[in-house]
Amino acid sequence: MNPWKKDFPILFQQVNEHDLVYLDSAATSQKPNSVIEQVAAYYQGYNSNVHRGVHTLGTKATDAYEGARDKVRDFIHAKKREEIIFTRGATTSMNIVARSYAMVHCKAGDEILLSPAEHHANLIPWQQVAKVTGAKLVYMPLESDSTILLEKVRPLITNKTKIVAIQHVSNVLGTINPVAELAKLVHEVGGIITVDGAQSVPHMKVDVQELDVDFLSFSGHKMVGPTGIGVLYGKEHLLNDMEPVEFGGEMIDHVDLETATWKELPWKFEGGTPIIAGAIGLGAAIDYLQAVGMDQVEAHDRKLTAYALNQLQSIEGIRFFGPLENRIGAVTFNLDNIHPHDVATVLDAEGIAVRAGHHCCQPLMRLLGETATARASFYLYNDESDIDQLVKGLQKTKEYFMSIT
Ligand code: PMP
Repeated sequence: MNPWKKDFPILFQQVNEHDLVYLDSAATSQKPNSVIEQVAAYYQGYNSNVHRGVHTLGTKATDAYEGARDKVRDFIHAKKREEIIFTRGATTSMNIVARSYAMVHCKAGDEILLSPAEHHANLIPWQQVAKVTGAKLVYMPLESDSTILLEKVRPLITNKTKIVAIQHVSNVLGTINPVAELAKLVHEVGGIITVDGAQSVPHMKVDVQELDVDFLSFSGHKMVGPTGIGVLYGKEHLLNDMEPVEFGGEMIDHVDLETATWKELPWKFEGGTPIIAGAIGLGAAIDYLQAVGMDQVEAHDRKLTAYALNQLQSIEGIRFFGPLENRIGAVTFNLDNIHPHDVATVLDAEGIAVRAGHHCCQPLMRLLGETATARASFYLYNDESDIDQLVKGLQKTKEYFMSIT
């Protein structure tokens, strides 16, 4: 058996009288015992609010919460802990960048460069910025295999380009975008790059200094951590110049009846009682992933993706989307003209969990010429036998639909 599966108790159950095969980690990952235990340990042993109390439980909770920030800093190799803001998730992080940075820095005539494959969470905030500021959204061309060619993107990065907003890894296709190269190009013209790391941070070593990105957003729940916690990384000088988006307790320094001043970073962006258990759980998730080793996680997830692409090709009538290589974590397909929701329903009857739909990427679906696709996504607790089960399940799906048509 895969060496890590044993750490994930949820995977040892029957679903519809079959052993569960969980292939939906791009939507949310499962949680190892160590994460579940550390969240429970907080509630059972030292549940308390952070930063304000001097009592013992409060101090312990504060140490654990701020300790989690140090773990995140180390995990993505940020220069300083002040650059790590805890948020509710990648969506919230990207909205903070749009509202607090872009709404202030963009004006009519400026351009925001995006890929048409963006998740709605890294698309709609920019539409809102364009509406309010008059900035223009410019889209990179996608090749026939849905990848980006740098030669074709280069001419689009001009001194009008204020922001490049791009996903590091696509949640639909698993393709890996050339983020470091894009960062270099946009910096040459004085713009910034904000990266959606929701699907890259869980699967590969992401070093914000090496990539030289200005902002990076990601969610704890996709990297074996709890729901409700995410991270916004931002370069210190950018965050320092930005206004908070939420005002209230915890984020202030001095308040009088007419005015208030803010705490220093990172707390000025963390108004209200923070997501204490979530941050502690994320810290435990990082400990877990680091004990495995991110190189190992990446190699495993790349290998499984390649294996899946290879094995699924044996099914007649399957259509794949995306390139055949340099992708990680997910394969997306359709089978004959069976609706992907029907594919997912038949697979579920076999205990196999996959996702079907537009995957929060409606513009990409239109480019692919589909209204929806089925997606199988993988993580460190999956192995080849899960993919073999998927292939068998898809064969059954075909047989079932052939028998009723
Ligand atoms: N970007 C990508 C690429 C994603 O896959 C997701 C989650 N599906 C998000 C952003 C949004 O993440 P969350 O829902 O955790 O905020």
